[in-house]
Amino acid sequence: MNRRDFVGLSVAAAAGAVFPFNRTLAQLTQVSGEAVATTAAGTATALSAGDLQQLKDSLRGALLLPGNAGYDQARRVLNQAIDRRPALVVQPSGAADVRTAVYFAREHNLLLAVKCGGHSHGGQSTCDGGMQIDLSRFRSARVDPAARRAYVAGGSLLGELDHEAMAFGLVTTAGTVSHTGVGGLTLGAGFGRLARRFGLALDNLVSVDVVTADGQLRHASASDNADLFWGVRGGGGNFGVVTAFEFQLHPMQREVIGGALVFPLARAPELMQAYADISSSAPADLYLDAVMSARMGGKPGVFVFSLCYSGPAGKADAVLAPLRRLGTPLNDTIKTIDYVALQRSGDQTDPRTEGNHLRSGFIDGFSSDLVRELVAGFEAAPERNSSVFFQHGGGKIGEVAAAATAFPHRRATHNMFATASWPLDQDAAPHVRYVERFWSVIGRHTDGYYTVETAGESPETIERNYQGNLERLRQVKAKYDPTNLFRLNPNVRPVA
Ligand SMILES: Cc1cc2nc3c(=O)[nH]c(=O)nc-3n(C[C@H](O)[C@H](O)[C@H](O)COP(=O)(O)OP(=O)(O)OC[C@H]3O[C@@H](n4cnc5c(N)ncnc54)[C@H](O)[C@@H]3O)c2cc1C
Repeated sequence: MNRRDFVGLSVAAAAGAVFPFNRTLAQLTQVSGEAVATTAAGTATALSAGDLQQLKDSLRGALLLPGNAGYDQARRVLNQAIDRRPALVVQPSGAADVRTAVYFAREHNLLLAVKCGGHSHGGQSTCDGGMQIDLSRFRSARVDPAARRAYVAGGSLLGELDHEAMAFGLVTTAGTVSHTGVGGLTLGAGFGRLARRFGLALDNLVSVDVVTADGQLRHASASDNADLFWGVRGGGGNFGVVTAFEFQLHPMQREVIGGALVFPLARAPELMQAYADISSSAPADLYLDAVMSARMGGKPGVFVFSLCYSGPAGKADAVLAPLRRLGTPLNDTIKTIDYVALQRSGDQTDPRTEGNHLRSGFIDGFSSDLVRELVAGFEAAPERNSSVFFQHGGGKIGEVAAAATAFPHRRATHNMFATASWPLDQDAAPHVRYVERFWSVIGRHTDGYYTVETAGESPETIERNYQGNLERLRQVKAKYDPTNLFRLNPNVRPVA
């Protein structure tokens, strides 16, 4: 869009805002000076006060500049080790504002970040010097119980989707922490307690609305813009800002069996093998994670099984019997529980809320070497807040062909990740070194990784991770984002 079109859009928006009663005081204030911003190429560019004022006047949502109330909350992500400062933050109230922001970013060639729930481990939803589109004012979930569909706005969190759907006895796959964004999780893949039963979050997408790099709002589904629909399902934020997600819902009872069994870390060799065996032969309605956590602050290390069984209640005892045979745990919180409450149960305890370093990769089963190296590496870990997690895959996830969506890692039985966290007043370096050293041993057993959970890989590594889907992704990228405006994501470079 050229400058004239942008001005036209601004005037139209301003004309429609004669009675701006829903605007905050901050929105009505004048932009007082110019700003220096960073372009996609990393150079500096000046944004005049006039340009910024025009942008601000074009929005129903907010434009935040450094120093404005809410700016710091917008720019921060969950991983507190990330501390970046965009030159400007647009908080759209809807798709119209998203279009305005994308036009502006494109016209000024700005580095552009898109934030939904802010859980990006590497902080790709914020940036230094560029524009951040923060979708946190753009949240809603509406359910059509008869059609079994959920319509979710682009900035929504998983908890909103779970809550609204379960009110009608319906669910779809969501992640295990309810303040994770629907945006980043679904566009990356979306593992969770129901994924083995109903597939990944992205497998349950029926359609999306996307503001692409040319500022157009495009509907994408199996029948409309099918190439775009294929690409967004696993291609992350590469193709634009998704303003609406339409999910397929499934009937499910509200009460499931969930909770954790906590054992001493000293039993890790035997428990690691038990996890390998039990999780590999589990029915699709049993989701079983495992976590080894190191000794810390005088507390001994623990080995935790965490589960959700959503199948028929009458079969629960038989399904859980192999876990019960492991003997008496230190703590047992397994009980019948409201599914939505279970989905919120880890919201306060996830170590990724501090400074955090994480490496992850997919595994296809547990070889005896992996089990041995995991246990030995972890026993050698010095006292620190560090863990190895295994997120349970398989089941329905693996029934989808690798090329059916842009997410190729269908054979993986588990997502394995090693992580260390630290209070921010501590030096990060030893924690990062520890994870890297441990990963240099166990990472050899992985085949590809979950793009949304890592950071700092080379462009070649990122692209290789799309495996056989890369060439098609690069073509779709060239069609919808030929200048790579959306690059702060597991980036696919457009074919020339
Ligand atoms: C505590 C925690 C728990 C997690 N649990 C799970 C889990 O159970 N299962 C699982 O699969 N993953 C899980 N993850 C990983 C998570 O899915 C990714 O970190 C994901 O990127 C988070 O999405 P977000 O919207 O919160 O992140 P953000 O940081 O807001 O966004 C991440 C990226 O997604 C893209 N994006 C987000 N929204 C949009 C949009 N509307 N349109 C276009 N692009 C968009 C952007 O490229 C952005 O950089 C977890 C992460 C954390 C920190």
